[in-house]
Amino acid sequence: MNIDEGESFRDKVATIDESGKRNWVFAYKPSGKFYQARSWLSIFYLFVFFGLPFVQYKGEPFLMLNILERKFVIFGFVFWSQDFYLFGISMILFIVFIIVFSVAFGRLFCGWACPQTIFMEMVFRKLEYFIEGDAPKQIALKKAPWNADKIIKRTAKFAVFYFVSFLIGNTFLAYIIGKDALLKIITEPFSQHIGGFTSMLIFSSVFFFVYIYLREQVCTVVCPYGRLQGVLLDKHSVVVAYDYVRGEPREKLRKNTERTAGDCIDCLKCIHVCPTGIDIRNGTQLECTHCTACIDACDSIMEKINKPTGLIKYASEATIAENKPFIITARLKAYIVVLLILLTAFVSILATRSTIEMQVIKASGQLYVETPDGQISNMYNFMLINKSHNNYDSLELKFDGIGSVELVNGHKYLSLKKEGSIKSTLFVKIPANRISERKQTIKVNLYHKGQLIEVEKTNFLGPVFN
Ligand code: SF4
Ligand code: SF4
Repeated sequence: MNIDEGESFRDKVATIDESGKRNWVFAYKPSGKFYQARSWLSIFYLFVFFGLPFVQYKGEPFLMLNILERKFVIFGFVFWSQDFYLFGISMILFIVFIIVFSVAFGRLFCGWACPQTIFMEMVFRKLEYFIEGDAPKQIALKKAPWNADKIIKRTAKFAVFYFVSFLIGNTFLAYIIGKDALLKIITEPFSQHIGGFTSMLIFSSVFFFVYIYLREQVCTVVCPYGRLQGVLLDKHSVVVAYDYVRGEPREKLRKNTERTAGDCIDCLKCIHVCPTGIDIRNGTQLECTHCTACIDACDSIMEKINKPTGLIKYASEATIAENKPFIITARLKAYIVVLLILLTAFVSILATRSTIEMQVIKASGQLYVETPDGQISNMYNFMLINKSHNNYDSLELKFDGIGSVELVNGHKYLSLKKEGSIKSTLFVKIPANRISERKQTIKVNLYHKGQLIEVEKTNFLGPVFN
């Protein structure tokens, strides 16, 4: 068959049949050097995934995304809702990084690092092989009547899948609320944590549904990243690709016949191992998650028939069609420049970010007050937020100009606990004879042990004396 013929695969998703029903994928167990490498990487990945919420750094989780309290701890740095702009920049940075990476290497991330692929292929699929056997046995089990063997295997699979989903759900919850809150839900009476228990069950059930039923549909139908490949890839992107120059025309292997066809012997092994049910020989398709199972399968066939491996390999269309090496295209260079600019901006903002946030907002309802000692006083609502792990015990407010700043309680120094906040009222007083404008911008400075750590600008209102 010519590679240009039979394009009907483009009209449908491989996992949905003509009548719109799901074609269940029974993927054969892969084996080979790529599968082995991915297995080792997944062990490391799982270790990190399950361990990270329990790692503490300076009394904080190393990674926590507490959406409920709007508190995020990323690699030990604490971010609050006031830092949301940083979160926005980091999201843009992440998206640009994914774009750069995809333009160069397609869905490499999906195959090697995406949690969905790791859990599906390296945890649940392996458990499935262990309980039900390889693909032919799974097909036979599906067709078999509900006898004792089928009931035992299906019950075991559901129980094990739910248990692992429960572990993932709990870990996921620990990323959101922190390990201490999770332990409280587990160890304290149910009645005190009905909401926590409900979240636990919802997360576990969602993961169970994803891995018992949704499976590859997450990558082919749900995930927007896969669908972006059509606009991100070009002929220089390195993807998992079939070398049609070498493989075509494909033809079955015949004994005692001199072979004139290409190297593909049409054994279909690459399709049988594919977890998304596609035929990579049809070219790059959005369903391909770059899991490399077809590379391993084809390499094992090439070794058996004494042909060089790499009929399916990591390569760009330009490499296969024109034998061109990998190049950094102008488009890729432009993306890299944008990425570097964003990265520089992000790092400099992060490095100069104040650990204490100060807000000084003019109190409503009162313009100004003239005091008996000839000063004009303005009242402000004042807030300090400590975003760091440190306690501050001698913070001092000073006014930048002629005048003074006073806290309503008369205290000179303030104490601020780690991650704590203070709300109060303060007055700024300026001698009436020094006021020349009805509204002027003033600066309130915050010092810690004599060192300026934060400056906040605000407005000061006063009468105009002619
Ligand atoms: S085509 Fe190959 S790399 Fe792509 S999903 Fe299928 S087996 Fe994995
Ligand atoms: S595994 Fe290799 S030889 Fe077999 S059908 Fe696929 S590409 Fe052809």
